[in-house]
Amino acid sequence: MDQDDFDTVRHMEISDLDPDATLPGITEGEIVVIRSTRRKKNISAYRQGGRIVVSIPARMSKADERAMVPEMVAKIRAQEAAITMSEEALAARIDELLSELAPEITLRPISVAWRAMRERWGSCTSVDRTIRISDRLKGAPEYALDYVLFHEAIHLQFFDHGAEFKAMLERFPKAELASAYLDGYEAAETALAAPEALKKLLQA
Ligand SMILES: [Zn+2]
Repeated sequence: MDQDDFDTVRHMEISDLDPDATLPGITEGEIVVIRSTRRKKNISAYRQGGRIVVSIPARMSKADERAMVPEMVAKIRAQEAAITMSEEALAARIDELLSELAPEITLRPISVAWRAMRERWGSCTSVDRTIRISDRLKGAPEYALDYVLFHEAIHLQFFDHGAEFKAMLERFPKAELASAYLDGYEAAETALAAPEALKKLLQA
């Protein structure tokens, strides 16, 4: 993974900050409905990266679709909420990681929040000390989430990916494993996205 694609670090003035990038109710990302000719009556839903994919039978009526899809989306979100760390827990984890691995950094984020981000794993806005974590990491192995939390937390002190930043990031004990997980996730996402992109081309 290219370090530059990992995240964004923003250093703009408070007045320049974007309002929340997502609207209420769609912070979980895009919802994709697939009509499947192979399905007779089953309906299924699953998470694919930043999207929730709901697969329904090709013949299902529009009215049934409107009734069933929100139900399935709610079910996925409830399952995820049960296994997802709260934002308070994310902040507490950052505190632990910094205390343990980088005690020189005494700054702490003002807020840590989940965000629907498909292009990046996290972001740190140093001017107001906010950290945002991609919701693609909900349900990720602990070492992968920790790695991204630690990466963003170091940005509180070091704004770029320079030598000091890298030296500190290397203290993370499972950096190689975590990088492999994140790279693998992105590769799988790209592979899964390709057929959809192809479909769009064919339909055009
Ligand atoms: Zn970074």
